[in-house]
Amino acid sequence: MEIENKILTVGELPDGSPVRIPYFIVDSGEKGPTTGLVATQHGNEFFSIVILKEFLKTKYPLKGKIIIFPVANPPAYNVKERTSRIDRKDMNRCWPGKEDGVITEKMCCSMFQILESCSCVLDLHNGNDNILDTPQARLYAGRYNDVRDLAEHLDVPFILLRKEPLENTLVGSLLDKNIQAITVELGEGRRITNFYINKGLKIIKSFLRHAGNLSRACRFESIPIYYDNMRIVTAEHSGLFSPNIQQLGAKTDFLGNLITFPDFSEKRICTPTKGHILSLWVGGVIAGGELLARITKD
Ligand SMILES: [Zn+2]
Repeated sequence: MEIENKILTVGELPDGSPVRIPYFIVDSGEKGPTTGLVATQHGNEFFSIVILKEFLKTKYPLKGKIIIFPVANPPAYNVKERTSRIDRKDMNRCWPGKEDGVITEKMCCSMFQILESCSCVLDLHNGNDNILDTPQARLYAGRYNDVRDLAEHLDVPFILLRKEPLENTLVGSLLDKNIQAITVELGEGRRITNFYINKGLKIIKSFLRHAGNLSRACRFESIPIYYDNMRIVTAEHSGLFSPNIQQLGAKTDFLGNLITFPDFSEKRICTPTKGHILSLWVGGVIAGGELLARITKD
């Protein structure tokens, strides 16, 4: 197995310097498909980089080639923010890119030319700051049938289906080219935890089995959830939230405890019906109206 370090050079920044996007080609030396793994389209979601690094540390009996972009958006990653400060464009709304566009669109255009050689692409994301996501695939419901086989072989417990498509996503643009692709969210963008590294490794392995780079694809049971069937819980009061982190992903009605002032009281935060906690605020101090959790309504 050979890992080739490559740099994709995309021009130009206002000072004339190019953006350099690092990527890696893992060549197994065996016949097989070419598959893509993409992370950090959003610069504050750098947790997936660690998962990819862990993946590369282990020797697997791979076939074919894997193209890995661990840092798809270096200008956003460098400032640890969702978007680049140069043009403020959300990279995952800029695909398949524009050759004569702003820098984020140019980066997408150059990366897309490489990713087009893949038959299957996994797009890795993490929860926003202080939001911890249980592993979940996210997809436009209108495309579910296009990737149902892939989704059924992916080691994620939940598949979130949105009724309206997001415009110009990486996955949408690849599917337009008949390339199998899916977005997976897990963990929190800025928090590096062994528990979610291991979950991420399992997801990557299941994806590569389906893609044909690792042998023996196996099926996983996952629960499809429409966005309508998801309850968004915001904090009713400001305070200090201790999340029920042990049950993230599990079915419960208990989200955590909220300590409030000046009375220094503690209140259990519960939902009207039990559901699977998909995302949870893990940041402690919370202001009234901020997102506490996403939970299914079942
Ligand atoms: Zn993201």
